[in-house]
Amino acid sequence: MTLHAKSTGRGDTKMHNDLQRLWELQKIDSAIGELETDLRSLDDGSDLRAQLASAELESAARTSRLNEDAAAQSTLEAELEKTELKRSEAMAKAYGGTVSNPKELETLEQGIEALGRQMDRVENELLPLFDKVDEEQTAVEAQEAEIARLRRGLEQTVSTHENESARLSDQIGALRTERNGAIEGLDSGSLSKYERILKKAGNVAVAAVQGGMCAACRVTLPTVQITRLQQGTELQQCESCLRILWISGE
Ligand SMILES: [Zn+2]
Repeated sequence: MTLHAKSTGRGDTKMHNDLQRLWELQKIDSAIGELETDLRSLDDGSDLRAQLASAELESAARTSRLNEDAAAQSTLEAELEKTELKRSEAMAKAYGGTVSNPKELETLEQGIEALGRQMDRVENELLPLFDKVDEEQTAVEAQEAEIARLRRGLEQTVSTHENESARLSDQIGALRTERNGAIEGLDSGSLSKYERILKKAGNVAVAAVQGGMCAACRVTLPTVQITRLQQGTELQQCESCLRILWISGE
């Protein structure tokens, strides 16, 4: 980047030289501004981290529901098995040829029927639970796959963020060093005016004059001001946006 004014044949004064340097300084500050915007807009993984946290919460809740239902299923299965066993024993006793008393047989048959009804009741509770546990198991597995996907994405995003922010910070650091050289020896009044405008006017303190207009706010400049600018003897500001005007000597 050229930091020193070229001799233009006109307006080759200290002020013209300072204006040229402010123009060059503006280019550095614009480049720093763009890199800082890039740095701020880098994805640091916050969104993915939040998605992951909420997926993990949901997964914990699903797993706990699955465990409850699977435990209920085991309890019912054990009850069914026990009842079935009792019923087989009662049947073996009733029809094994050892019971001849009709009263006793009737009591045993009533017991067998009652156990049969109990088995029906347990089976009716158990059947929908089989489907539910299956569905919950599938949902928990899908959620775990989603969590793994989010973790991989987050890892990659964090690593890209680290590399990119280091790269951008290095570039910003180099430009800041260049900037220190660019402001050395500049008229302090002009520099502080430049810096005030830079802060207020969206990082653009110096506007080029193009086609008789201020390139920053597109207002047409008075001819007399353009003439003064071409003479390059004083710092001129756009009356509309107050930016320092720069006109190339060519
Ligand atoms: Zn303007």
